[in-house]
Amino acid sequence: MFYYIDWTYIVLVIPAMILALYAQNKVNSTFKKYSRVASRSGMTGAQAARRLMELNGIYDVSIERVSGNLTDHYDPSKKVLRLSDSVYSDTSVAAIGVAAHETGHAIQHARGYVPLTLRTVMVPLANLGSTLSMPLIFLGILFSFSSVMGNTMINLGILLFGLSVVFTIITLPVEFNASRRAVACLGDSGILYDDEIGGVKKVLSAAAMTYVASTAVALANFLRLIIIFGGRRRD
Ligand SMILES: [Zn+2]
Repeated sequence: MFYYIDWTYIVLVIPAMILALYAQNKVNSTFKKYSRVASRSGMTGAQAARRLMELNGIYDVSIERVSGNLTDHYDPSKKVLRLSDSVYSDTSVAAIGVAAHETGHAIQHARGYVPLTLRTVMVPLANLGSTLSMPLIFLGILFSFSSVMGNTMINLGILLFGLSVVFTIITLPVEFNASRRAVACLGDSGILYDDEIGGVKKVLSAAAMTYVASTAVALANFLRLIIIFGGRRRD
């Protein structure tokens, strides 16, 4: 991004970044809070994920342990559900909630849920977009005196940045739907009691807000680019 302060930065980017910081803080504190609440079933995150997949007829997804904090994810290309240290062997309401959410992604994959397919297809495009967009825009600025080439590079850079914005937008239904599936499955499974599922909902909605905040940050930066360079091209 362009690290100088103008009105678009103050009006668009800073509020989005504050939202992102707030959301990150909220998910960490909520996860911590419900990590201290032991589930009465005493199941670990990994056991809960296995049970939930079996209840949904899924037997070809393996479960692995991954290092890091809240690094849990489902890998559709390898059919692997990776759970972090604080989820895999932990028996808390928070751990089971996160494990159930990741299982939600495995269920989406097994059922051919279209937004997940789209998201998977978008991953390399979004990576390309976030890697190349800023260098292209900077090069475009350098070339802007010979304006056709400069403008083309800037436009292409903004378009590539747009791909990463679209990716964060497609991620939203995928994440919300995985959490919805997680709560519904847990309710039917007998793994958690109703009052424990209340805790799961709090953890998962805090996690969902971090995705909303990421989309807000991406959109704010995208709009800023359009405002800065949209005005510039009319000169
Ligand atoms: Zn997810």
